[in-house]
Amino acid sequence: MRFDIITIFPEALHGYFNESIISRAQKNKLVNIKVWDLRKFSRDKHKKVDDKPYGGGPGMVLKIEPIAKALESILKLRRRTSKSKTSGVLIVLLSVSGKQFNSKMAADFAKKYNHIILIAGHYEGIDERIKKVIENWKLKIENLSVGPYVLTGGELPAMVIVDAVSRHIRGVLGKAESLEEKRHGVGVPVYTRPEIFKFLDKKYKVPPVLLSGNHRKINVWRKMRAKWIISEG
Ligand code: SAM
Repeated sequence: MRFDIITIFPEALHGYFNESIISRAQKNKLVNIKVWDLRKFSRDKHKKVDDKPYGGGPGMVLKIEPIAKALESILKLRRRTSKSKTSGVLIVLLSVSGKQFNSKMAADFAKKYNHIILIAGHYEGIDERIKKVIENWKLKIENLSVGPYVLTGGELPAMVIVDAVSRHIRGVLGKAESLEEKRHGVGVPVYTRPEIFKFLDKKYKVPPVLLSGNHRKINVWRKMRAKWIISEG
């Protein structure tokens, strides 16, 4: 799976992607993540990528031209390495009012697409006409939100989506970290050594069933505590 992320704050993403499971997935060539600095596509001598909104009002809007140029470069690069121009490509516009991203979508995206391009907005958002540009390329586009709250930019949402989709790519999670939502569901309480934790005159114990060695009982106990589970694939 290839991910391309267009942002005005590329450094904000590098730290996260160079750690832990996502870093290992890149080293193992299971995912390929490239972060594109939008300012590099500005023709302005000060590398300006935003301007005042038409109709007035406070805040700034990300201009259409640098984003269209960044997309063009990403697609050109794709053409060099892939036979198909558009099949398997999804463009994600991160937006507060988009469809709410969820675990099912993460699993579906990992199966359906081989290339996801994410566009992180900032300030007041992105010039709306970018959607028409993408439609004219006949590319699949989704407006996605990562939750019903307003963030200052689309960088965190982009990282959320890359992370959540990557977990569903075969080989990304080692056996020890396999998808818990398929194993026994999420939200199941977990414990590790010591068996009894003594702290400030109090004792904190592990539920006895987990120490019983009875795997059938342990599975029942976990299933009863799972908040949700996904069973497909
Ligand atoms: N004025 C915009 C609106 O009404 O939708 C909000 C702009 S927000 C301050 C700046 C950018 O952050 C958005 O363009 C989007 O890319 C990103 N963003 C903020 N919250 C988000 C969320 N919950 N999900 C996805 N993206 C979000």
